[in-house]
Amino acid sequence: MLNRRQFVCAATAGAAAFARVTDVLAAPATYDLIIKGGRVIDPSLRLDAIRDVAIAGSRIAAVGANIAGDATETLDARGKIVVPGLLDIHTHAARVKEGPALCLADGVTGFVDAGSQGADRINETIAIAKSAPQPARVLINIGRAGILPEGDTMDINRADVGAARDAVAKNRDIIAGIKARLSRDVAGANDYEVLKRAQEVVTSFNLPVMIHMGQTVSPLSKLMDLLKPGDVVTHMFAPPPNSIIDENGHMLPEVLAARRRGVWFDLGNGRTGHLRWDIVERVMQAGFWPDTFSTDWTPEGRTAQVFDFPNVMSKFLDFGMPLDQVIARATVNASRVFEVFRDRGTLNVGAPADVAVLELRQGSFEFVDNYGNKRTGRQRLFPSGTVLGGKRVPARA
Ligand SMILES: [Zn+2]
Repeated sequence: MLNRRQFVCAATAGAAAFARVTDVLAAPATYDLIIKGGRVIDPSLRLDAIRDVAIAGSRIAAVGANIAGDATETLDARGKIVVPGLLDIHTHAARVKEGPALCLADGVTGFVDAGSQGADRINETIAIAKSAPQPARVLINIGRAGILPEGDTMDINRADVGAARDAVAKNRDIIAGIKARLSRDVAGANDYEVLKRAQEVVTSFNLPVMIHMGQTVSPLSKLMDLLKPGDVVTHMFAPPPNSIIDENGHMLPEVLAARRRGVWFDLGNGRTGHLRWDIVERVMQAGFWPDTFSTDWTPEGRTAQVFDFPNVMSKFLDFGMPLDQVIARATVNASRVFEVFRDRGTLNVGAPADVAVLELRQGSFEFVDNYGNKRTGRQRLFPSGTVLGGKRVPARA
């Protein structure tokens, strides 16, 4: 049995195939854009080969070697890597008006703003997300005043279930879940209660909670117990206290159990307190790879540590993750986490024509963690071009 989405895809693909057959009878195929000769890596199709990608209207029309036919526009991708448009599930791109366009130029064709605002000012992030050129969703911060220097929920009254619930009910189209930041300097000893309240907000809407873990007052094992399938743990490489791994290099049993029941584990690069190379090393050695990569993007991150999504992805090449696995974590894996991205993260025929063109450069590249520790990598992915809904996006400034 096909579910509804598969049926729609199959129907779209069928219609496209039909259109192509009639085209062949009448005239050579014509496309709006052909991305020519790149190394196409699409983990959703288990594809890694030199291919052309042909686009008609806003959809992928064909992926093949040396596609014949006319195109209004051709993008020469020889020597480059062509992947499905990148999906970044933890950003703060809707905090500033220019955020979405800046990310788009880096290849990010879908993003989630994760908790920039709470109920009091959620309309501001919603307005930016709605005006974004790419599909965008917002997680509401359980703290009604959003991100506060003194801690979002240090005052537990700010974790206002009623206010958050009202905001979600009014904005079901754009609020895709709730964010609970649980570190000592954000929630203090309220962490457990804050997470309980976050779950209370979303339970009737059937939406996920994303927790910001690391340096919590409560043991992580206790917090894990409150997570349901589909919830997201971001900042998974946060150093102690309360990492996902203990001092002996063992993964916490509650973390393993959470993954087994369908909780996602996300990178959330960020700039302070979330990422330390020795923890990455040990967690990767334990075989517990991230489900998704994300930048925790802010405008300030453009010039330090984060820079752009392809740079964040590159860090894992240096930890021995194969390139196609790196791509998967920024495309097809992310498409499974939020409903809005379900038909994205793929170059399948009939899918929205969102494409990122990247350059894999060899050399010597410095990667800095959130604690100033440096690693030198031999490879780095650079953004080289973006196509959104079949249209080329102006290059990064
Ligand atoms: Zn964040």
